[in-house]
Amino acid sequence: MPWFKRVEKGIITPTEEKKETPDGLWFKCPDCKTVTSMTEHRKNLKTCVKCNYHDRVGSKEYFAILFDDNKFTEMDEDMTSGDPLNFVDSKPYPQRTAETQRKTGLKDAVRTAYGKSGGRDITIACMDFAYIGGSMGSVVGEKIARAIDHARKTRTPFMMISKSGGARMMEAGFSLMQMAKTSAKLALLSEEKLPYISMLTDPTTGGVTASYAMLGDFNIAEPGALIGFAGPRVIKETIGKDLPKGFQSAEFVLEHGFLDFIVDRKELKQRLVDLLGMIMPATEEKNGTAKTQKAAKSA
Ligand SMILES: [Zn+2]
Repeated sequence: MPWFKRVEKGIITPTEEKKETPDGLWFKCPDCKTVTSMTEHRKNLKTCVKCNYHDRVGSKEYFAILFDDNKFTEMDEDMTSGDPLNFVDSKPYPQRTAETQRKTGLKDAVRTAYGKSGGRDITIACMDFAYIGGSMGSVVGEKIARAIDHARKTRTPFMMISKSGGARMMEAGFSLMQMAKTSAKLALLSEEKLPYISMLTDPTTGGVTASYAMLGDFNIAEPGALIGFAGPRVIKETIGKDLPKGFQSAEFVLEHGFLDFIVDRKELKQRLVDLLGMIMPATEEKNGTAKTQKAAKSA
């Protein structure tokens, strides 16, 4: 007889009596349900050890991955949004802003910084989903625009890491204007032949997909990321048809030609360094010749 035997059969624990795993010690993968310690999960850059599910992380983690020795200079750190529309939903917008800032330690949904990655200067803007769903308001647009200006001024490549539910409802039309502003700035970056790498992480949707996130010279994404404009439920209700399997996943989007490649978070830095190593010297050289030709013409 085994030393342990279940005497009673069909024991059912009511939901309210089930014990929850305490937060912060263990990570349970929502995909394959594998449980790992938080330390192990962090060491693995918050990707599942078994199925490689990419857990959502924010600017703090991406900056630590990308910038050499986690050294960088943050720009416009204290820029916060106003309340141009005196917007009130379940609570007034300024109150929501204050509460979110306290809860997340962030000032808005994007952080911008410059530093070195693989020894090469780079400017990076990274969104934070924890701040009102990574929504794009005036501050997000303005900080990205200024980061692009910084990249142009210092002639460094620009990288954008998107993670957003779309435009920020509380700033309505002002949010939508950020799409045009950031796109125009990216056009200037392109005119100056500086590379723009756009990385789409889970989730990238709405006005962000419809503007800067899809304008990269290279559009890359993390595995399994949800990428789309409108959400699947809205589309399904509009067209009245079932959507294909894997619809709006990074893999689906890649297959349909909207992405250049999918990159594992654990390989992200090396891939970025390799990519810039391939394109930067060539760009700089071309630019040099263009300038010399111009100078020769005017002389
Ligand atoms: Zn997993």
